[in-house]
Amino acid sequence: MATTTTPSAQGACPQKAAPHFPEQVTGMYILARALKNIGIETVYGLVGIPITEAGYLIQGQGIRFVGFRHEQQAGMAAATDGYLTKKPGVLMTVSSLGFLNGLTATANATVNCYPMIQISGASDPTMVDMNMGTYEQLDQFNTAKPLVKAAFRCSKAEDIPSAVARAYRAAVSGRPGGVYIDMTTPALGQIMNREDAEKLFYQPVDLYSPVIPNPESVDRAVELLTSAKHPAILLGKGAAYSQVDHKIKQLIEKYNIPYLPMSMAKGLMPDAGPLSALSCRSTIMEKADVVVVIGARLNWMLSFGRGKWNPAMKFIQIDVDPEEIDVNVPIAAPVVGDTGLALDAILAKMEGKKMSADPTWVPSLQAETKGKDAKFAERLTANKDKMPMNHWTAIGAIKPIIESNPDVILINEGANTLDDTRDAVNMSLPRHRVDCATWAIMGMGMGSMIGAAVATGKSVVAIEGDSAFGFSGMDFSTACRFKLPVTVVIFNNGGIYNGIGVPMDKTSDPAPTTLDINARYDKLGDAFGAQTYYVQTPEELAKALTESIASKKPCLIDVQLAADSGKESGHIGYLNPAPLQDITV
Ligand code: ADP
Ligand code: MG
Repeated sequence: MATTTTPSAQGACPQKAAPHFPEQVTGMYILARALKNIGIETVYGLVGIPITEAGYLIQGQGIRFVGFRHEQQAGMAAATDGYLTKKPGVLMTVSSLGFLNGLTATANATVNCYPMIQISGASDPTMVDMNMGTYEQLDQFNTAKPLVKAAFRCSKAEDIPSAVARAYRAAVSGRPGGVYIDMTTPALGQIMNREDAEKLFYQPVDLYSPVIPNPESVDRAVELLTSAKHPAILLGKGAAYSQVDHKIKQLIEKYNIPYLPMSMAKGLMPDAGPLSALSCRSTIMEKADVVVVIGARLNWMLSFGRGKWNPAMKFIQIDVDPEEIDVNVPIAAPVVGDTGLALDAILAKMEGKKMSADPTWVPSLQAETKGKDAKFAERLTANKDKMPMNHWTAIGAIKPIIESNPDVILINEGANTLDDTRDAVNMSLPRHRVDCATWAIMGMGMGSMIGAAVATGKSVVAIEGDSAFGFSGMDFSTACRFKLPVTVVIFNNGGIYNGIGVPMDKTSDPAPTTLDINARYDKLGDAFGAQTYYVQTPEELAKALTESIASKKPCLIDVQLAADSGKESGHIGYLNPAPLQDITV
């Protein structure tokens, strides 16, 4: 096999070898071909040394290359693509800082069980290992390792197709997550005879193999579920990710079981459906006796399955990851397996069996829902004409528009903007809501919006707090360059939580939470040729959002709120070690 290698530790000054086309190819070409071969349709990234040519070669393979302004946003896009398609989203970055910027998104993907692959150009590892101070020197492989599901390093071009296939398997199998490939400069620059390179590509067999649950675990779960007096189903984003919506619907509707969705499972079953217990979260926690947890974790978002939860509660948990079982609370009936296969087995076993549910259980939840929803509607009505607008005024204008465009994907981040939008806007289709998820991080908005639009071809609306938007705002320009059907709605209350923070001392600097209540975010959109709006009333907002969605073009709406709208930390103020008003010097 004729190969020529580029720089090594010994030959400190690299000789740039050029391949003789068409009989020779580079490692970069092999990478592009390997991605194409395995079915990757889009690469999200930001090029520079040493991956610029790889970006062109990827385009040359007919793969879409979506070039971003910041790697973290490209990574958020890849992760959202992965979540919505069940195929790994691919992020490509340069070395050192580009790698680190991207790694934030890949770590977030791992935490959220989104399948993605980060491929970063990397310096020659023989030089990194000897700490020679080479260009952008960083031991990226070992830096990434603890934050990802799997990591591979390609030091030779021959390894690239296998690394790509194995990274794909690792990203989607079992609990999905982020995978890292360290794509070293020697591997990228290596020249091979095309004929030899062709022999490296293979079609991996059974790339995604769903886990079948143990039949005994299914028997135990069915026994428990059919004996429940107050059964309920808790749906998480793992359930939404699984894309087995009809099986979930069958279990719920055939056996008349109320369901409670986590935020990204909203719409998996309609939020406003007759068995939706969305407005009865506390009652489910306190009064249900058997809860089937499907693709959700009993973590901080669910009070760790303790506290408020009925102490006599018995959990059935369907999860692909055995290590998720018994975390925080003992699980009476674990069903370890893929949601789809687990539900097939459960539904088959349930056939002909009767539920023992208390006949008043569902009607009582429906009555509670009616009362709670009426109260919620009153809150929207009470704030309808507030000037300047507060969050509820603005959300009151947005709610009917999003609800009457159910196929629009909603991206949502912020503090109050997140909490209030999640609570107010009903979703009716699965996987149409992506938010800041398990880590409750800010700065996923523009990337996720772009990833959702590219992966699905659907219209996307991102509802963003002004602070949240600030993390990723520049990548709105990416949506503009790619002419995506996206609308960004910025709730500007002039700050983190709100815009009325008071500085601690006599400094003339703004308070740590203060941003800019007078900022005209719409002008940022103007700079990139977007259709933009600055709105001060609910009527203007409703008109702008309706027009924006209909235009199928990049749009940005700056929504002027009052600076005192919103409270510190939104709904999770209790997590602050000390509330602001208690701080003394
Ligand atoms: P939420 O935040 O909505 O509660 P989490 O991200 O906390 O959701 O939990 C998702 C769970 O779904 C994880 O425990 C993960 O292992 C599980 N999961 C992901 N994919 C599948 C699948 N295909 N089948 C079963 N469980 C899955
Ligand atoms: Mg704000």
